[in-house]
Amino acid sequence: MSIADNIKNLKAEIERLNVRLVAVSKTKPVEDIEEAYAAGQRVFGENMVQEMAEKYEKLPKDIQWHQIGHLQTNKVKYIAPFVSLIESVDSLKLLQEINKQALKHNRVIDCLLQVYIADEETKFGLSFDEVIGLLRAEGFTEMKNVRIVGLMGIATNTESEKQIKNEFYELKTFFSGIKQSFFRKEASFRELSMGMSSDYKIAIEEGSTMVRLGSNIFGQRVIKHYKNQE
Ligand SMILES: *Cc1c(COP(=O)(O)O)cnc(C)c1O
Repeated sequence: MSIADNIKNLKAEIERLNVRLVAVSKTKPVEDIEEAYAAGQRVFGENMVQEMAEKYEKLPKDIQWHQIGHLQTNKVKYIAPFVSLIESVDSLKLLQEINKQALKHNRVIDCLLQVYIADEETKFGLSFDEVIGLLRAEGFTEMKNVRIVGLMGIATNTESEKQIKNEFYELKTFFSGIKQSFFRKEASFRELSMGMSSDYKIAIEEGSTMVRLGSNIFGQRVIKHYKNQE
């Protein structure tokens, strides 16, 4: 199946469930993104800042770019002018830097807090307690150029559907609690980004509003050994 077919089929499958598709195009060439774009896809996810910036330059400007991988503070400036959503905020320090860079460009950057839900040591993210700590931190409400619109999580890479389901369920429950406690009056806090190629169906059952699919659309990636980028 072609990239265009994959996009059409996946969009048809998930959009009727009110879930949005983020096409994860990391490591893939501009031509692949153009094919997906021609099939109607507008939201793309990348995890390397430089790669995203280069693709942004070459591709249509109505593409919404999502940062989905761990973001280093000193690299925020390269994507601040155009990034649509940073899905991987995992510290107050990073959020403060995003705020600072967004202010320079006179914009408000939407962000998700990445929550650690997997039973693995390699995944980035905040614990439930750390999310609450961040939202209560002094200075959080003073940041006017970032807007937290939801949470993101990556489930354990396991064959156990039960475990994946539990992890997504816990994140959804936590999301609801956070919305009640911190964002009751903010309709913009409504995104729960969970689900990748192998587990997106489970994620949608458990309340995902946004799935991040790469290999399902573009085929397998050549493995690169940037351990701390994924
Ligand atoms: C690479 C990546 C994806 C997409 O993974 P697939 O298994 O190819 O769908 C989703 N989310 C994050 C954070 C990623 O790094």
